[in-house]
Parts: sequence; structure tokens; C-alpha cells
Amino acid sequence: MEQISDLVRRDLVHIWHPCSQMKDYETLPPIVIKKAKGVWLYDEQDRAYIDIISSWWCNLLGHANERINRAITAQLENLEHVIFANFTHEGAIRLAERLREILPAKLNKFNFSDNGSSAVESALKMAFQFCYQSKKPEKTGFMCLDGGYHGETIGALSVGAMDLYAKIYKPMLMQTVRIKAPDCYRCAYNKSRDSCECECFESAKEAFRKHGKNTAAIIIEPLIQGAAGMKIYPALYLKKLRDICDEYDVLLIADEIATGFGRTGEMFAFGHTDVSPDIMVLSKGLSGGYMPFSITVTTQKIYDAFYDDYDKGKAFMHSHTYSGNPLGCAAANAVLDAFEQENVMQNAKKRAIFLNEILLSALSGHKNVGEVRSLGLINAIELVYDKSSKSELKGRVGYEIYKIALQNGLLLRPLGNVLYFNPPLNITEHECELAVERCVKSIRQILG
Ligand SMILES: *Cc1c(COP(=O)(O)O)cnc(C)c1O
Repeated sequence: MEQISDLVRRDLVHIWHPCSQMKDYETLPPIVIKKAKGVWLYDEQDRAYIDIISSWWCNLLGHANERINRAITAQLENLEHVIFANFTHEGAIRLAERLREILPAKLNKFNFSDNGSSAVESALKMAFQFCYQSKKPEKTGFMCLDGGYHGETIGALSVGAMDLYAKIYKPMLMQTVRIKAPDCYRCAYNKSRDSCECECFESAKEAFRKHGKNTAAIIIEPLIQGAAGMKIYPALYLKKLRDICDEYDVLLIADEIATGFGRTGEMFAFGHTDVSPDIMVLSKGLSGGYMPFSITVTTQKIYDAFYDDYDKGKAFMHSHTYSGNPLGCAAANAVLDAFEQENVMQNAKKRAIFLNEILLSALSGHKNVGEVRSLGLINAIELVYDKSSKSELKGRVGYEIYKIALQNGLLLRPLGNVLYFNPPLNITEHECELAVERCVKSIRQILG
């Protein structure tokens, strides 16, 4: 191992990094990033890395984006933060008005929080209280999909269904109904993604038959289950879910924290359908990946169930200190300006086709690449031991590739043995090519 720098040494004295086994830092010390621009990160030694995962899926329009920098700086001159109960400010008002224009129909009430998990908590409590105040007190439960990920606070973990994050805390969590999720690569019905009728929806039907009556809401990641390994499933599944939610009077919560703002090739994943959820949760790309910032959006109908004289006790008593933070609003408004003025979506769609093509041609022949799947600019490379049986690789192969990719100048954080690309929407063709080249090289170094 090379000499560690003074900053690294001091980091390891005090800092407990997120989602890490700190012992791993003995062999892979933290990388000190000094600056970033566009898709590039630069470390202490001025080595450059392509940030192909948008720094945990949040950076939307590149690092140090000039438009967003200007907007935040200008906001800072006037107002950095103000309590959002009984007070308001223009940035939040404009943001709500503008999101209203681009969100699926009926979503018109905006409840602000300051991170994804908190906005999920808000959605769950809102759904629960809505049922309670709508004279449906039997509706207290929640459903979710296997492999679902909605954040790591206790409520969000309860509706998540990934043992990796939740198992230890099970005694602390509320009981939820888990539905077997679509798994298109290993389809139990042997269908292909384009030709299926979502036969796997049968599991959802059964769960609704059994538990629909007592369920307040189901929460899902529309079209892509991110943390589960960027598992992509058809839009038809969402339509079926909408229908069955209506049939059993269950609210549909769309967690678009990862899929929102163009990642899937539409502004929102629900834009691939003609249906709308009852509650939508936004974060990550919402602020361009600049500020901890989130919104839970809902309908007039849900909002109205909380609207009454104060002493009826129906208010939504949920808040976060940084709710509606003006700097977050400024960043989010700048993101929407970019979408309006810079052809972001058209360019992202073109780039998505390009990136998928070069990944496929570079990797689909490799003996361990089971599938390269994509939606929008998101591409996942599922590594397997054996392609025909789709059996899994043993050990931390993804992690080994991650480490070598860093040496090759690519930040490619895997999910188990699934590697993925989830770049900012304005990545260039040349940067796509470089990233694919470095990815292929890294895979070859580990797997031959
Ligand atoms: C990241 C993420 C969350 C959690 O957001 P945090 O800001 O990390 O709390 C929830 N749901 C999905 C789909 C996410 O990708």
C-alpha cells in the first residue's frame, strides 16, 4: 500500500464512514477529493476519476455546475434559511408551481423535508393518517416489494426489503407485507421483458387479496429497483399496481428519489405510463445532487383529509428543521431552468442510446456478463459465474473490480456483483467511451 497522506491518517482517527466496514479502510483508505468538475473527481495527488455513479446517484448535471453554483451563491446573499412553519419564501413557491407543471396529474401539494429517508417517513405517516382521518381505521399496514429500498431510518427500513440493511434491526421494525418483486433477468415464467404480461403480478394479487383490506399504502421504486441491483421491470407492472390499488382502496406511493429528473429517459419513471401515484417522493437529483433536500408530493384529496379547525387535531404534525431550505430550493429551481433551457432531456436520451450500445458491444461477449440492462442512462452489468445457468459469482468480485477501477480512474461502486453506470445527464460521448474502456479493463483484470 502506498504512503497514506496526513488527511487520510486524520480521517481514520475520527471519521466513521457511511455504509462501510471500517476495517476495509485498512487496505483501501478513503480517497481525499479536492475538487470536482462535470463528471470528474480530482484527488489530493491530482489523479482524476470519472464519477460514473453520480456520487450516490444524486449529481444530475455534473459537479461544479455553473448554473447551479450561481443560483446557490445568489440565494446565499439574501437568505440561507428560514423556519418553514408560518413562513415561506419565493424559491419554494416557484419550485412547487414549476414541479406541478411537470409531475403526473393530480400531484399538487408539496411537503418539504431534507433528505430521501425523511421524505419517505413523511409519505408513510401521511398515508397512515389519511386513512385514519378518512374513517378507515382498519387500514394501518404497508406493503412493499422484495428488494425494495427506501432509505435507512426505521420507518423507511421497515418498508425496505433488503436484508443487507434491515436484518439486524428487525425487532425494531414495523411489520410489513412483502410482495415477490419482478425479477426479469431470472424470470420465473421464462418471459422476456418486452413480451411479458407481468405474469409475476400474481404475487401482488395474492397479497392484496389477503391484506388489501388492512393496508394503507404500498411503496415501490417505479421501474428500477436501485439498491437491489438496478433491477428493471416493465411499465405494465405499474399500471397493474395502479388498478389493484384502486380496487382495494390502497394508496400508491412512488419513491422516485433515484428515478426522478430524467434518469430513466423520462422526467419521472411514472412518465413511462399514463397513470399516477397518490404520493410521490423526490430527492437526490431534485437539487442536482447539491443540497440535502426532498419533497413528498401528494394530491388534493389526501391534503383535504388534514384540513380542518385546529382543535380537531387533524394537522400533519411532521417537520424537519431544514424543511423548504432556500438553498435547496435555489438549486432545484436552477435544475429546472437547465431542463428548460439546455435540451437536457433530448441530449440525455441520445447519450443513453450511445452508452448502452458501446457497453453492449464491449461486454456482452464476456463469459461473466450475464446481462447488460438499461433504462435511460442507467445501465447495469450483472456479473454471473455461468451465463447459461445464471448462477452467481462467489465472493466479493464486485468489490475487487471496484478497487481496481479506482486505480484505473473510474468510480464504479457495485451493488454486490452488479456493476452499474448512472452518470450525470450531461456526460459527453467521449466521457462515456472513456468510462466504458476503464470498466472493461477493470473487469478483465479481475475476471480475465
Ligand atoms: C437514496 C434513496 C433513498 C434514501 O434517500 P437518503 O437521502 O439517502 O435518505 C430512498 N429511496 C431510494 C429509491 C433511494 O435511491
